Amino acid sequence: MELSLLPLLLYIPLAAFYLVSTVINFLRKRLHQAADYFLVLFLGISFLETLLLILQTVGVFEVFIPPVEENLPHYGILLLVGLCLSLSLLLFKKKGPGWIFLGLDLVWIAGILLVDAKAIPLPDTLWVTPKIGFYTQNMSWAALLIGWGALVVGTGAFLIIRYVKARTVFIKNRVRYWGGALIVFSGGALLFLLGIEHAGSFFLFVASLAIIYIIRTYRLPDFQAMAYKLISATLTGLISLLLFTFGFLLGERILGRYSWYRSILSSLPMALILIIFYNPLQEKVKEIVQILTGEPYNRDRALREYSKSISSILEIDLLATVSVGLISEALDLVGGALFLVDEVELGTGVSGWRLRGVKGMGGTLPNLDILTENNIFARVFVGEQRPLTHAEIDLSHKFQTLPENVVSWLQALDVEVFIPIHTKSEWVGLFALAPKRSGASYSSEDLELLGTLADQTAVALQNARLVESLTVVNNEFRRAYAAMENAHEKLERIERTKSDFISIASHELRTPLTVMNGYTQMLSSDGELMENPYYADLIEGLLGGADRLHEIIESMLDVAKIDTRALELRTQPIDLAVLLQRVSRNFERDIQVREQSLLFQGLEDVPKIQGDPQTLEKVFSNLLSNAIKYTPNGGKITIGGQHIPPTSGLLEWEGVEVVVSDTGIGIDPQAQKEIFTRFYHDGDVGLHSSGKTKFKARGAGLGLAVVQGVVEAHGGRVWVESEGKDEKNFPGSDFHIILPLHQPAQNL
Ligand code: ADP
Repeated sequence: MELSLLPLLLYIPLAAFYLVSTVINFLRKRLHQAADYFLVLFLGISFLETLLLILQTVGVFEVFIPPVEENLPHYGILLLVGLCLSLSLLLFKKKGPGWIFLGLDLVWIAGILLVDAKAIPLPDTLWVTPKIGFYTQNMSWAALLIGWGALVVGTGAFLIIRYVKARTVFIKNRVRYWGGALIVFSGGALLFLLGIEHAGSFFLFVASLAIIYIIRTYRLPDFQAMAYKLISATLTGLISLLLFTFGFLLGERILGRYSWYRSILSSLPMALILIIFYNPLQEKVKEIVQILTGEPYNRDRALREYSKSISSILEIDLLATVSVGLISEALDLVGGALFLVDEVELGTGVSGWRLRGVKGMGGTLPNLDILTENNIFARVFVGEQRPLTHAEIDLSHKFQTLPENVVSWLQALDVEVFIPIHTKSEWVGLFALAPKRSGASYSSEDLELLGTLADQTAVALQNARLVESLTVVNNEFRRAYAAMENAHEKLERIERTKSDFISIASHELRTPLTVMNGYTQMLSSDGELMENPYYADLIEGLLGGADRLHEIIESMLDVAKIDTRALELRTQPIDLAVLLQRVSRNFERDIQVREQSLLFQGLEDVPKIQGDPQTLEKVFSNLLSNAIKYTPNGGKITIGGQHIPPTSGLLEWEGVEVVVSDTGIGIDPQAQKEIFTRFYHDGDVGLHSSGKTKFKARGAGLGLAVVQGVVEAHGGRVWVESEGKDEKNFPGSDFHIILPLHQPAQNL
């Protein structure tokens, strides 16, 4: 037996290749991908097929029925062509009837085998006319070719329909690649069936390489771009060859006389020239090819223009419009969108992101409300920080199970590629870019360029967002300010009304009160009437009430004067000790009734001050009456005084301090400023008795307003110190009054 070596040199490496790739693809198979299993099956059968060829070549393999032995590799080839159809269905239609076609293919092969094995008894001659005859020995050969034809036509038709129907560019691109690989594969299979087995095997091998590559790669390089590269490289090669030949021939002709080294002399300079100019030549050819086949984009120019245009934009909408517009223009895209990304806390320590569409691809942009931390999108965009293509989402099993909201968001967008935008520490945005107008897919250079553009956008986006939040704060501030102004105006109006009311009421009440007072006085001077104890009591009551009313009206008048700054001070030197004695004499009876004690401390040493005695009497009168009112029976009231030298820091001038202290119910710290406002009352007014000095008797709430007005008109200050209100322990209150010794000019 003679061993032909040549076919073995081809088959053995092929068998090794198929075996290794079967194992590798089995190990790397993705559990969710049926196509991966079919690929392993396909490679495994290819290995067995090549093994069979080797065994047949070395003659180890013998079957007793010769036609079966002869045809055995052909059955294998038909099986492989059938697997190609199943693979096509699986690749481009998620749930395809891959197994059904494979089954039909197997039945067909089994039929041929049975005929070859003569298991079905058939006559030698099937059909004869005078011109042609059809014999059983040719039948299996014809059946193989028919099977091949049916499978190729079926696959071809399916791919053409798929190509036409494909909505996305990446599927079209994929079909193009797959179609190319299958043409080579079916060509190889045909050569094989026709008996040109070596060439056929070689073509089948090349096609298998392509098939593995296509199934295992998500993002195939753009078909057109590849074609351009190939054309450019071929053209450059041809031009170089022409130049070299021309130069060489020219050199030969010029140097014709110098026989032995003329070829070196003529080829060397040409070679040098080509070495130097090859690269620029290649660039130029590439440019020309690109210009002839479509408008190319210039990467550097695109980058420069982009950063120049967006760096100064501070408005988010405008930024989105300009950035998406420039990118679409540079890459000739159908459209694009920019999403703003906000990190949100979802509670229970899980964080997520909210995607807010700014610039749409035509209509309104769908927002993606929540993208949780553990979502695959978040992992790609935040963890890996890389672009994501539609191809990957469609093909990778990682994206097979997506939450409902993400699926509908994706469906609403016609996106070919997502580019995340990151600042140093944060994910701030996302470009969602549509397919290219030309139908070409994104090349790796495109993705690289987009990555750089996204980096540039990050800074601008952050600035714009900062401005946006500043604008929001500013608007809120403005609104708050307007509301405050409004409230202020209202308050002023109320204040005006209040003081108008006080002034009108006090003036209007004064006249009838004087009349009433006059008549009551008359009644009280009627001796006869006063002898009757009943009438005397009534008249006393009337007199007391009129007095109290008079006092209240006086206070109202004072407050009105203080409000309108009409309080006139008639100043003169005052001995405060004398003034306070005089005031306290008016309360002697009340103190007695209430069994309280009144004490003076240090007043003798107080120097004389310049002031208005009449108004100051009111001040101390009010303070003393309050002290009596808010101190329980048996309590102690102290009026202390001291000189304040100019160095004390309390006053700008030299002055005196008077402190009226009691052992009464005290005043809450939060009320200590408010009690000086007009008509102030603490809560439980209803419980108060009336009367000037009865315990907790209710007053009009004007006393302390008069005190403060008068003291301040004198250029002094008044405040209260108390631990708080406590009607059980009686912490007491200290009213401090500071008055300057001399009146400053403006108060005179
Ligand atoms: P009234 O005429 O109601 O006493 P004032 O203006 O004199 O009005 O006082 C205002 C409020 O200050 C009083 O209602 C009271 O609650 C509180 N107050 C004034 N002086 C004292 C004091 N010596 N002890 C406790 N509370 C006081």
